[in-house]
Amino acid sequence: MRLFKLKRNNLFPFLRGLEGFGELWGPVRKGRKVVYARAKPEEFDLEALRTIIPAKKFFLPPRFTALKFRDNTWEDDYRPRRKVIFGLHPCEIHALNIYHRFYTRLFTDPYYERSKEATLIVGLSCVPDDHCFCYATGTSTVNEGFDLFLTDLGDRLLVWVGSPRGEESLKLVGKFLEDVEQKDISDYVAWRKRRDAAFKLKVDLDGMPEIVSFSYDSPVWEKMGRACLSCGTCTMVCPTCTCFDLEDEYDLKRAEMHRERFWYSCVFREYSMVAGGHNFREARSERLKLWYTHKLVGFMSEYGAPACVGCGRCVVSCPVGINVISVVRALRQERTTALWTKMEVKDA
Ligand code: SF4
Ligand code: SF4
Repeated sequence: MRLFKLKRNNLFPFLRGLEGFGELWGPVRKGRKVVYARAKPEEFDLEALRTIIPAKKFFLPPRFTALKFRDNTWEDDYRPRRKVIFGLHPCEIHALNIYHRFYTRLFTDPYYERSKEATLIVGLSCVPDDHCFCYATGTSTVNEGFDLFLTDLGDRLLVWVGSPRGEESLKLVGKFLEDVEQKDISDYVAWRKRRDAAFKLKVDLDGMPEIVSFSYDSPVWEKMGRACLSCGTCTMVCPTCTCFDLEDEYDLKRAEMHRERFWYSCVFREYSMVAGGHNFREARSERLKLWYTHKLVGFMSEYGAPACVGCGRCVVSCPVGINVISVVRALRQERTTALWTKMEVKDA
């Protein structure tokens, strides 16, 4: 992996140069929230941590037409536009690596593949806030899954080139880059120490696969299920959640059909319903147990790492405080102040 440095005042020209690859997207502030949006480099929020919706939306949109049928023929015209996605933090890139493994494991999802082909990933370092816990999931640094990665050292940025496509992009922006010196490396090491010391949220994920497995009959699930609204927010904002559904929409008059593909959620009641109306997970507690068992146990045994990258989106999004932190603490029988642990809901 090659390493260069970029003077601070060359950052915006560097990003503009990358537009030679495709549309430039990055984190833009909207009120108190941050979203990925198409914008000029000057409009990006370089301090932003988590966007509302993660970068998975670029690889499989929340909803799109997968197939069109007409006159006994079908057409697949999903052609994502070429994009440069700037500002992805290490946890987000780790989540995309999980996404990649999932969508290329048994066969390669053609829609994902086309999106990936059309995207240049430009990562950016970050300093954690009160809701980040990527140190606990081993995702606070990243070595693969990006084309370029920028570490912000103040008056300059270090630029890692992480892929052949990243190397190719240097034809567009290589003129802005300089060789690194020993001082850049020692400043980077000092930055890492300061960044690591900035984590405030403490959570211990050690031994969680065993703890979750042995907690199968724990009353914690029932209590959580009684508070859960089945709104699906946790799964939509989670960068590693991959569930989707397909729906065929017919227009009988015009003899046309569209096959729509859209994000779905295992916490929705209909998710586990089968023909005949039987539901394998009628209770909300069962659906939440599935979510957390998949994230903290199933994924561990299949890939050796949890399907949680510590981004904190579920921590800031769930209206009743059900999230990896509060669930892990409750299962560990540690003190938690989460709203759901205080709620007395009489009827499930
Ligand atoms: S756990 Fe929270 S965010 Fe997820 S479905 Fe339940 S209420 Fe909604
Ligand atoms: S489970 Fe929560 S903290 Fe972990 S990756 Fe998903 S949204 Fe982020």
